[in-house]
Amino acid sequence: MTMSEQHQSDHQQGAASQSAYREGAHTAINDPVLQSALGGLQQRLGPATQGLYQQLPEGQELRSLAHGLRRKAVDNLDIMLETLADRVSENGGQVHFARTDQEAVAICLEIAREHQVRSVVKGKSMVTEEIGLNQALEGAGIEVAETDLGEYIIQLAGERPTHIVAPAIHKTRQQVGALFSEKLGTPYSEDPPTLTWDARKALREKFLSADMGISGCNLACAETGHITTVSNEGNIRMATTLPRVHVAFMGMERIVANLEEQQPILRLMSMGAAAQQIGGYVSYIGGPAAADHGDGPQAFHLIVVDNGRSKILADPEFREMLCCIRCGACLNVCPVYGKIGGHAYGSAYTGPVGAVVTPLLFGINNHADLCTGETLCGACRQACPLEINLPRMLLALRGKLSAGDPEWQVEPQRKMETRLFGLWQRLNRSRRLYEGFLRVARLGQKLLPARQGMIRWLPYPFSGWSRSRDVQPLAAKTFMQRWQEREQQQGEGRR
Ligand code: SF4
Repeated sequence: MTMSEQHQSDHQQGAASQSAYREGAHTAINDPVLQSALGGLQQRLGPATQGLYQQLPEGQELRSLAHGLRRKAVDNLDIMLETLADRVSENGGQVHFARTDQEAVAICLEIAREHQVRSVVKGKSMVTEEIGLNQALEGAGIEVAETDLGEYIIQLAGERPTHIVAPAIHKTRQQVGALFSEKLGTPYSEDPPTLTWDARKALREKFLSADMGISGCNLACAETGHITTVSNEGNIRMATTLPRVHVAFMGMERIVANLEEQQPILRLMSMGAAAQQIGGYVSYIGGPAAADHGDGPQAFHLIVVDNGRSKILADPEFREMLCCIRCGACLNVCPVYGKIGGHAYGSAYTGPVGAVVTPLLFGINNHADLCTGETLCGACRQACPLEINLPRMLLALRGKLSAGDPEWQVEPQRKMETRLFGLWQRLNRSRRLYEGFLRVARLGQKLLPARQGMIRWLPYPFSGWSRSRDVQPLAAKTFMQRWQEREQQQGEGRR
């Protein structure tokens, strides 16, 4: 089995064990360091992003406009990608279309072989996480160095990112100090500037000696054939200009028509990602270095990855998901992500965006817990710079899990839950049935163990609710009964 196949298999097996999500969540909830880091992140970034949206000179309409621009690109993806490929070729680069993760990895390995690549420096890229590129390169004997500071920390620790934009948010500076001391041989320090300097020194060597630079692509521009990358550390510029070969990966949907249309989206992306008006370094990369230009790579390759996106594109219910620009703003407000962090999601994509996109890319049954674990509170949609309706798609996924769907090869599951909700629906449609149910439940709850007026334990299938909390019992009288009694008393008082 190749490293990439192993990665794919991990995805399916890890996810197929439904308990992986629950176990991961349980571990995270009991990790005080992670809880404090997640709380700090959400308190800082969530409100700061909202504050910037409120101050947009163009008003909130800019977000709808940006959504429309992304949607237009997604709706015309075939033409956009064809134009992009023509322009990149005219600029001296090469475009490769990969249908699967394995194809994408194979193309990259072939480019590396052609150019006799022995070492690679990488800018942050979610799609390369998705396809398991690092494992495949390392399996081929190529040294890979992540150069985004957070990704570098995670790579040294042998872990997965926990946040789309802040991959090492779960690590304290003490942990990073110990890690650097062990792996880089530097004197122990927990001073962030010292640690950053240690990483910079180690990475500088790698930048200067690497044969190939690999980057992601925040947005490509069909009209000019540029890819645009945004970073705050300048590392992507080094990774894409110093080595002799640059390979950029993009999910096939990450494109807009022209540079003018990119501009509002990049601004909103920076607000969503890091509560900034614009990222520190915005780079437009249009191919290899020109003949009369000393700097830049000799070869530029763009690998456009499908890996399940065509299926999403073909389904009107989920096409909106392809508008996502992976800014991570939805993670910074999600109450579920704020408690369980990213590792429980078992995928490169975490939080509410991961709860939709991971099942769509890697199997809805395999990742059922992700979409059922979210609360549907709607905070993600409000935080999303493009107002992507994640709650609607979470519900649609749950619908497929309940009823099954041959198109998406979904087997119906959670049959008990489906039956219970069916029953609940019937009760709510008939007042007589509903009130009868309440009467029986009120009597039944007297048989359950109680403490200080609270129910301590519920029987299956409700037992999950009372595993870590006491449950409020049903009131002795319904609101309607109390209202009628009150009206009656007031009427009598007036007589
Ligand atoms: S769904 Fe919206 S907020 Fe979440 S990552 Fe995508 S663009 Fe950002």
